[in-house]
Amino acid sequence: MVIPASNLSVLFDFIFNPWALFSVWAVGINTILLYLILSKGIQVSANRWFTLVLLSLIVWGVFETLDRSSATPIASDFWSLAGMFGWIFVPPVFLSFTLSYIGKEQILSRLSTQVTLFGPSLLLLFLGLTTDLINNRNIQQIQRTFYGWEAPSAPYFWVALGWIDLLLVASLVLLIRHWAKSNDKISRRQTALFISAVLIPVVGGSITNGLLPIFGVQVYQAAVLLTSIMSLIIAYAILKYKLFVINPATVATNIVNTMNEIMIVFNLNYIIEFANKAAKNVLGYDEERLVGQHIKKIISGDWESLRGGVLKPLSSGQTISGVDLELVSTSDKKIPVTFSASPLKDQNGNMYGVVSVAADISKIRDLFADITAERNKLTTTIESIVDGVLALDFEGRVITINSPALKMLDFGAKDIVGKDIDQVMKIFDKNGKRIFFKDLVSRRRLEKDTVVFRREDLKIITQHNKTIYVNLVSSAIKEGLEVGLGAIITMNDISGEKELEEMKIDFVSMAAHELRTPLTSIRGYLSVLQEELAKSLSSEQQSFLDKAFISSSQLAALVENLLSVSRIERGAMKIEASPQDWQVVLQETITSFLPLAQEKGIKLTLNCPEKLSPVSVDKFRIGEVLSNLVGNALNYTDKGGVVEITARTDKKEHVVLTSVRDTGQGIPESALPRLFTKFFRVSGVLEQGSKGTGLGLYISRAIVDMHGGKIWVESELGKGSTFFFTVPTTQTTKPLKSVPGAFKPKRIFIKKNNKLVASV
Ligand code: ADP
Repeated sequence: MVIPASNLSVLFDFIFNPWALFSVWAVGINTILLYLILSKGIQVSANRWFTLVLLSLIVWGVFETLDRSSATPIASDFWSLAGMFGWIFVPPVFLSFTLSYIGKEQILSRLSTQVTLFGPSLLLLFLGLTTDLINNRNIQQIQRTFYGWEAPSAPYFWVALGWIDLLLVASLVLLIRHWAKSNDKISRRQTALFISAVLIPVVGGSITNGLLPIFGVQVYQAAVLLTSIMSLIIAYAILKYKLFVINPATVATNIVNTMNEIMIVFNLNYIIEFANKAAKNVLGYDEERLVGQHIKKIISGDWESLRGGVLKPLSSGQTISGVDLELVSTSDKKIPVTFSASPLKDQNGNMYGVVSVAADISKIRDLFADITAERNKLTTTIESIVDGVLALDFEGRVITINSPALKMLDFGAKDIVGKDIDQVMKIFDKNGKRIFFKDLVSRRRLEKDTVVFRREDLKIITQHNKTIYVNLVSSAIKEGLEVGLGAIITMNDISGEKELEEMKIDFVSMAAHELRTPLTSIRGYLSVLQEELAKSLSSEQQSFLDKAFISSSQLAALVENLLSVSRIERGAMKIEASPQDWQVVLQETITSFLPLAQEKGIKLTLNCPEKLSPVSVDKFRIGEVLSNLVGNALNYTDKGGVVEITARTDKKEHVVLTSVRDTGQGIPESALPRLFTKFFRVSGVLEQGSKGTGLGLYISRAIVDMHGGKIWVESELGKGSTFFFTVPTTQTTKPLKSVPGAFKPKRIFIKKNNKLVASV
């Protein structure tokens, strides 16, 4: 029906009707309730739904008031239609409210539930507004009654009534079930009050507003009024029991049913009176089957001792907590639990039962078993490795140590576990510098497991003065900070090898010393023979003598080198540095090698483009390095080649860089990494013709190293090699690494007829 604009005033044409006051009263009461609920706060979802119930009732009440006060049937028709916006939503909102009250909110959150509850109401509203099926829109049929206007029911109004009653009855059923299930007195009283409140409009309203009009009986239509009485009763429940602000009973029921722990209430005869969902799930019982059972049915073990030891204290009013028990499931599976229980007492303090909570710890047990197995595996692994292993915390205290480490250090576990590592042992590097715990640990948060420290040939002196030599690696795991594990140290005992090495050095040194004296006299006599018999010998005899002299000289060189090596290895070589003019040192070397170079047809030059800074070197030893490098360059370069010494100052690094370049045969790349090691000689064709010892570069590196310098080589096979080394200028701050001991230049020059013919 469309009302012409000029007729709009008809809709607002009201006359006073005392029966409309009931509707006004309903609006008033619902508005007050709405205010009350809102002022209590709508924290719980049931409250939100209840405010919607009240709002629907208010809408309905307001339009019913206007309907009943209408002066004309047109106005009445309009307002009664508007009232549908209120009443059609009361049942779905109310059912939602009920679901929320009984703790089934999760159903409400489903879209399907919402569509099921609100969809039909919306459809009915649509049909009511647009057709004559639900509402009788025939103005002629609207008649005046004692309480207002009324028309006979529309043909399908019963559908709307049926839908409404269906939802209200559903609410009632849910509430009654909730009431029946609930153990708590207060909760039962609340629910009972609630049920009676709902019954009033369900029964009364359906009769007066639905059934009677359908059958053409005219009575006062009291639905709004009756529904408002329902609201009033609920309001009473709100004030009396704080029903919806927070309903402790609902909250408790929710907690009990959603908690993972098993909760069982049993009486003084040990008969189970209540078991929560977890109890049924974990133990495998169907709904309700646990109730009425004797508790011993679900507890494993000797019942009598259990009753005496665990359950008896409860009867004297004590609480027990954290007892380890095993429960038995329906499939006879034993479930480990921690069991706590406390007595239930009435107002007079008389005990009437026990409430118990059992937490399933089988997962924790499994985890614990896994961890124990892992730990045992780890301990066995650590014990079975031959290296010593220590774990330290971030304070440097020993957390754990394996037997090989204890044996190595000659400690008992109690001498070292829990002690500060810096206190129980002193670690020194090759140069005698002390290494502390702080050097072995990383304080940073690590991205991955990392080796923090790795050093060979360390000396450890224990608290009991035992000395061992080790190769040591300290690693940290990335979870170290969380678990308090600072460092895991593995030590490989090399004392035996070290001892062997020392014996070897001693032997070499002794043998070399013993060889030195006879060699000197052999060389002496040979040279006397060379001079005195020179004229009386045939050239062949002379060449024999020369060969004998050269070979003995080579032997002497080897002996000298061996002595140097043993000194280096024993740390007995000493550097006595003094300021030197490097150009002069280089010039002297050139001068001494010039005859050999000329002999071999090699051009030997010095190239110092700038004035060099004075250097701080041990002139003899560094002269040895130069002799080695220049000698090698001449040895491994053919006639017509060039050997050039170049030097320049690196002011930034406070060193003088010297290079010895030759245009000789070069060194294969594969040989470069081992070039400076003991006894290394480039094998194969290249070796032929040269009679070195393979020790020169090793000794050179040791000497340069002692000066705090570096030595390295660049070489290309067939094109030549360049050896570089640095020596400190007098401005350097680097300390020299030296230990006392005597040293003589090792290179031996072989002269023939006062001419230098070779150097070895
Ligand atoms: P050696 O007494 O045998 O010369 P070194 O330690 O001085 O011992 O040298 C080791 C080896 O390095 C030599 O045997 C040689 O094969 C190679 N070598 C050293 N210097 C040169 C060079 N300038 N050119 C080519 N090879 C060289």
